[in-house]
This record gives sequence, C-alpha cells and structure tokens, in this order.
Amino acid sequence: MKSGLSPSSLSRKIICPAFAPAPFDSDSRLRFQAFHSMAMLRVIKRHLLLGFILKAIEARNGNGFRNDLSFEDPCGKLRIVEVKSAKQLAEVHAIQAALYWTPDSEVVVSNGNEDRILTEDYVRTIQNRAQMTRELLREHPEIAGSTFNPTPETCRICANDRCPFLPGTTNASANRAS
Ligand code: SF4
Repeated sequence: MKSGLSPSSLSRKIICPAFAPAPFDSDSRLRFQAFHSMAMLRVIKRHLLLGFILKAIEARNGNGFRNDLSFEDPCGKLRIVEVKSAKQLAEVHAIQAALYWTPDSEVVVSNGNEDRILTEDYVRTIQNRAQMTRELLREHPEIAGSTFNPTPETCRICANDRCPFLPGTTNASANRAS
C-alpha cells in the first residue's frame, strides 16, 4: 500500500530513522541520470537475452509506486526490477527493491553487472520493518529523529546536522574523538 514516503526515502529511514536527505545539485542529478540510464539498458539487454518480455519502464505498479522496470518471465510471472547505477549492490538497495513488491510478483535488485532476486522471506521481513518504521515516524517522531544508525550508504547523502555521525562536520570529529 502506498504511504507518504517513497521507497527510496523509506529504505534509508528503515536503516536510520533520523536520516534526512541532502539536496541533489543539478550536476549530480545529471551524472546520476546518465549512469542510471546506462545501467537500465544493460539490465534490459540481459533480461531479453534470457527470454523475458519488457512490460514497462518507470510505470506505477500495483502499490502505487513507480518502479524502474517490469518484465514478464517465460512462464508469465511478473518481475519487478529496481535498477541501481552503483558498481556494488548494497543492503539499502535491496531494502528499497523489497518495498516495490506486489502480490504475485518477484522482486529483483540489479545494477549493470548483476541481477539479485530477493527471497520471499527477505521481502516479508522488510515489509514488517517498513511498517514498524512508519509507526515510529508517525507516533514517536522525536525518538525517530534521535535514533542514529550510521552506515556509509545513508550517512554520505544525509543532511541531519544534529547527528553526531554526520560526515565532514565537527559533530563527526567530536564523535570520533570521544
Ligand atoms: S548522518 Fe546520522 S542521521 Fe544521517 S544517516 Fe548517518 S547516522 Fe543517520
């Protein structure tokens, strides 16, 4: 079901409830779009060679979110694919992909080099964590705002200047020194 947070934001909040996204400058956005488009083409090519049919590009699926690619496998099953431009797939990418799940679909997180199929157990676990995170954000925003869980994938694009782990700030220096 669609909630107020996009899968991209919610996936980071699941890891660190205090995460606050840093703004994207236009150069970074252009670079990201170029790398993402190249990764999309490679993922499409791999799937077509395996006999999948491309059904949609950046279309809304059953849960109201726009996912990167949708394919149908040779048996008619829907495959939802979240494409990343990163060279290495990280946990936050798999979490985001799991949030696109719809009943009767298979969810995959991909980059230019690989396609990682998410297990049903993993998707279920992430859907439960997503529910708990939404409740924490809604019912206890002050606790969420001070629940810090530093990971490289979230901290490098965070702008929460109250966080002692924010990279490149005196907060982080003070934290490392303590
Ligand atoms: S900098 Fe702090 S608030 Fe931001 S993601 Fe890292 S730990 Fe979380």
